Amino acid sequence: MEFEDRYLQVQRPKYDCLLFDLDDTLYPLCSGLATSCRNNIEDYMVEKLGLEKSKIAQLGNLLYKNYGTTMAGLRAIGYDFDYDEYHSFVHGRLPYDNLKPDPVLRHLLLSLPYRRIIFTNADRVHAAESLRRLGLEDCFEGIICFEILNPTHKSAPSDDEDDIEFVRLDHNSADHNNYPTTTTGTSAIFDIIGHFAQPNPVSALPKTPIVCKPSESAIERALKIAKVNPQRTLFFDDSVRNIQAGKRVGLYTVLVGTSQRIKGADYALESIHNIREALPELWNVENKSEVGYSGKVAVEITSVTA
Ligand SMILES: [Mg+2]
Repeated sequence: MEFEDRYLQVQRPKYDCLLFDLDDTLYPLCSGLATSCRNNIEDYMVEKLGLEKSKIAQLGNLLYKNYGTTMAGLRAIGYDFDYDEYHSFVHGRLPYDNLKPDPVLRHLLLSLPYRRIIFTNADRVHAAESLRRLGLEDCFEGIICFEILNPTHKSAPSDDEDDIEFVRLDHNSADHNNYPTTTTGTSAIFDIIGHFAQPNPVSALPKTPIVCKPSESAIERALKIAKVNPQRTLFFDDSVRNIQAGKRVGLYTVLVGTSQRIKGADYALESIHNIREALPELWNVENKSEVGYSGKVAVEITSVTA
């Protein structure tokens, strides 16, 4: 009772939850993973989907720009493939050795008395491996990743997310979705390069079945799964378009990787390490107990079942 009385007297913190993108947000762009990932995606398009090498750069750019991720764009224009195989191809050869333990960031995160959740378009294996390399695997309550937003390999998007529960992210588990065997159906591919080559494209772009940032519905779905109120959540991401989409759904936003604040960003940080200088108010709350999560098992991420 004494604690409750005391708690009622202190000011309520502005936020309940901190939502973090992973890649190029919790570690810097200069680590080289993003460049390597882009190269691997281009190799996948040539080697696995049989696309013409000379068109890859232009096609990749158009897909990324219009669909959020190249993968989402490839599915939209008609390619079908096994998602796990795609992810292991593009992430399996990343220079993970470039990601070193970051005890400074770890200390900062653990001292923040809020729920902390990762929200990434990447797959769970990549997310868990990156966090493990950074020494941050026990700093988060859970991860909203590709498999959470895309629980089945569907040909059409679904709005029925009520049955989605967080799953435990465990490297050693055999918990994989049973996707159909790989197919690279190329019978009806939408010519997106031709589409944008027209002076006034009249046809609409095909929709993708993949749910990912920066789509507002993907962000809304993530918030619903994590059971967080956007108006009480601070969202960190290095992508301008993700930040702007986050702002449209009501989140408070922090653009990471630049000190130049843009429209839609409430704050801008050159590095995630600057969080204490830029947002000292995050620590100015009464309940300063560390919010830690079960980090006893190196790569195990506890489920988000608040
Ligand atoms: Mg990012």
